Amino acid sequence: MNLASTVTEKQESAVIREVEAIADEMIAFLRGLVQIPTVNPPGKEYLAGAEFIGARLKEFGYQVQYEAAEGRPEHTRAHPRVNVIGSMAGSKARPLVHFNGHFDVVPVGKGWTVDAFAGLVRDGKLYGRGTADQKAGIAAAIHAGEAIRRSGVKLLGTLEQSGTVDEESGGFAGVAWLAECGLIHKDRTDFVIITEPSNVDRVCIGHRGVYWFKVIQHGRIGHGSMPHLGVNAADHLADVIHEINHTLKPRIAKRITNMPVEPPGSRRPSININAVFGGQPEEGTQTPCVIDRAGAIFDRRFLAEEPLEEVQREIHELLEALRRAQPAFQYSLEDLMVVHPTQTDPSSMLVRTVSQSIEEVLGKKAPLIASPGTYDQKHVTRIGHVKDCIAYGPGILDLAHQPDEYVVIEDLVNSAKVMALTAMRLLGTA
Ligand SMILES: [Zn+2]
Repeated sequence: MNLASTVTEKQESAVIREVEAIADEMIAFLRGLVQIPTVNPPGKEYLAGAEFIGARLKEFGYQVQYEAAEGRPEHTRAHPRVNVIGSMAGSKARPLVHFNGHFDVVPVGKGWTVDAFAGLVRDGKLYGRGTADQKAGIAAAIHAGEAIRRSGVKLLGTLEQSGTVDEESGGFAGVAWLAECGLIHKDRTDFVIITEPSNVDRVCIGHRGVYWFKVIQHGRIGHGSMPHLGVNAADHLADVIHEINHTLKPRIAKRITNMPVEPPGSRRPSININAVFGGQPEEGTQTPCVIDRAGAIFDRRFLAEEPLEEVQREIHELLEALRRAQPAFQYSLEDLMVVHPTQTDPSSMLVRTVSQSIEEVLGKKAPLIASPGTYDQKHVTRIGHVKDCIAYGPGILDLAHQPDEYVVIEDLVNSAKVMALTAMRLLGTA
């Protein structure tokens, strides 16, 4: 199947010209969106963010609907979880290309030298929390679609755009919600492009897996002057951490994935401690105490080549071996979260089309990458069952969540060109 054949060079150059012509409107839109502090947690100003995007989509001729995550615990009166989705029907329902971007941003943090919500433009850069990650991606996708429309080129398939919430906290009220509602689903959706930062010239085809688990050690309380009469849970937690560092880590460090994960140091599995707890509160009055409860939360990142059952079995066996060796070693193990690895076929039409568009706009080959962390692609593939999904956007990945986050305006415009060419080629033109 090669839909690209319906797109003429004349149509493409007309659309590229329209992207350039719309650049100032796109920048103004992005500034306005950055000025809405949609900070997550806790999920501030989501309604305003959704309405700002929705108003622009409506102005550009989309059918717009708002989808609040009714019934989800994080959807509260104080912090409603509202998503927006716009649909522009072509002459046929399919194929359908869906551009998605999350409009929640992480808290500002320290170290800024500019106002994080002013949308300051200086030296060809637009500054603000959420510019790179990833309001610039939303601005690019919406204005890419509009550039096609203004050029007079008629698309055959359907173009959709969504702005969603909560990506930074798992995306359950955002993309997962739209997928559960059937709005991002293989029964209607063919291709999903998530506009996360990919440095304008790279295509992100998937991510590694995540397994979070909690280990709690149960000891026996006692007086700190006679520790031999109790069992200190922290001692046993230390044994667990020691085993993980000295047995498990060297073993998993020998494995490497075939996925093009960036940075390359993340092509191997990893395990990291998220939290350690137990004993008396740090601020409280201290008493001599053999503590009877201590625990830690671990973050195990696994490769597509590692079956989850195997990953979990390794942890279980490590703990069991310690228990067998020490009669007083008592533990409980709790699974907290699993995200499966996902990867779109590098030879799929979606990946090839985006890569080819990048090559044409930027004049260089587009590297395929995969993410060490996860993003909303997991929901698109696991809940929506749409297998053709990638991330592509203008932001510089390393600037995500950093102070003085910015997007390069030239990257913003170039990414909109890439998105416009991609949409035309995937949807076909009349
Ligand atoms: Zn993001």
